[in-house]
Amino acid sequence: VKVPQTLNEPVYNYEVGSSHRQLLKDAIKKIKSDKIEIPLIIGGKEYKTNNKVEIRSPHDHSELLGYYYKASKDEIALAINENLKAAKVWSKFDFSERAAIFLKAAELLSTKYRYIINAATMISISKSAFQAEIDSACELTDFLRFNVQYMQQIYEDQPYSPKGIWNIMQYRPLEGFVFAAPPFNFVSISGNLPTAPAIMGNVTIFKPASSSVYAPHIFMQVLKEAGLPDGVINFLPAQGSQIGEYIFSNPYFAGLHFTGSVETFHNMWSNIAKNIPLYKTYPRIVGETGGKDFIFAHQSTDKKALITSIVRGAFEYQGQKCSAVSRVYLPKSLYNEIKDDLLHEIDKIKMGSPEDFRNFMNAVIDKEAFEKISSYIDYAKNSSQATILKGGKCDNSIGYFIEPTVILTDNPQFKTITEEIFGPVVTLYLYDDAKYEETLKLCDQTSPYGLTGAIFAQDRAAINLAMEKLEQAAGNFYINDKPTGAVVGQQPFGGARASGTNDKAGSLLNLIRWTSARAIKENF
Ligand code: GLU
Repeated sequence: VKVPQTLNEPVYNYEVGSSHRQLLKDAIKKIKSDKIEIPLIIGGKEYKTNNKVEIRSPHDHSELLGYYYKASKDEIALAINENLKAAKVWSKFDFSERAAIFLKAAELLSTKYRYIINAATMISISKSAFQAEIDSACELTDFLRFNVQYMQQIYEDQPYSPKGIWNIMQYRPLEGFVFAAPPFNFVSISGNLPTAPAIMGNVTIFKPASSSVYAPHIFMQVLKEAGLPDGVINFLPAQGSQIGEYIFSNPYFAGLHFTGSVETFHNMWSNIAKNIPLYKTYPRIVGETGGKDFIFAHQSTDKKALITSIVRGAFEYQGQKCSAVSRVYLPKSLYNEIKDDLLHEIDKIKMGSPEDFRNFMNAVIDKEAFEKISSYIDYAKNSSQATILKGGKCDNSIGYFIEPTVILTDNPQFKTITEEIFGPVVTLYLYDDAKYEETLKLCDQTSPYGLTGAIFAQDRAAINLAMEKLEQAAGNFYINDKPTGAVVGQQPFGGARASGTNDKAGSLLNLIRWTSARAIKENF
């Protein structure tokens, strides 16, 4: 059996007057009027608990979208039991049967559910139509389709058998369950973290981020309709610290698939380490943990491409991407040439509710994010080492809005150039044109992260030097393009250093972590 070859899901533009746009608008209306109550889903059954949480639009405090429920200790224990029960059945599914379920889910997502999941993404996590489309509709669909192909590639990898012997590699699921803990910022990541292990035959506990439960719940409906057996993925919104405690002290904990902050990852890893003697098997730990991503420009760069990439890379989805541009290194002469055009481009950005499709930027996710980002801006405002070139206004009277903000500093170790902010704030650092190589080294050493970065240059020698000096600085390295928007199947995504274990989301490297192989030798 061979799974079908796949291409990336085409991106819809939702142009004015198109039927797609109308369908999306209808779906938005539905999301706003449904007042949904999102249950936990354990073993295919729905549960409501005493812990009921409001879901509000980040861009409009008055917009109550509904509620979700948080798991208590009892539901966490039940979910683990149901996972382990389902594992007995799921592990017997042939790979082609599993493939059929996830390929069908991809099909449903890109057709029947496309508008509703995009609408939920737009309204519940404040994403523009385009950003929702490339995330919930396209990237998530791509993850499913490509991961099925990678699964097949892994199974096809078989050892050599000399005459009289048959050697087989049997790719078994892990013995136990995987804990999938995604971030709020990508519905695609929310969907990929529980499904990548499930595609390889594992069962997972899926704890969506507290600030993004709506669209992931729609994805659960998609999986159900596609025929995923009950209990293979249990949907369990919960308090992070609480669920971790129970999950990591269970002997059948077999893997962690995580995207989120460095601090949370460190805590999880420490908890897992403490419990090592308890486990049936050494758990797989896969995590992506943020970045301090850069654009580095050389004097020879194409100015227009550079400006567009800074603006899009730094401000799309309000800079709330692990890959977002948050520091830019510019030669002084070039800065003088592009400064006005760059600031003018930022002036053109419209910000507001995603319901108005003209808004390029929307709100940041919640109060905590708003306060954290504002505090970085305030820090820069009050520092003698920095100038706010653009933006800087933070206003949460209607929703959590923060203007696209550009900071200029002459201190290469300034706080906003070294720490991850996760908001629409970019810091520029200017270097003497003659100090290109030295500044590349500086860029490499400035942050502990190594996720994404871009070099802008037309001069091939300058590109080569950047490739060499920034070798570890970015797991996803771009030449003359913004460092966001990796496409599944094209640029497998992930970074090393403090950015994670670099098991590239949407790649064979990732899928291979979710199997425990048995090598079988038979003599004839
Ligand atoms: N894969 C996304 C990109 O390339 C970023 C994912 C993230 O924020 O973790 O922009």
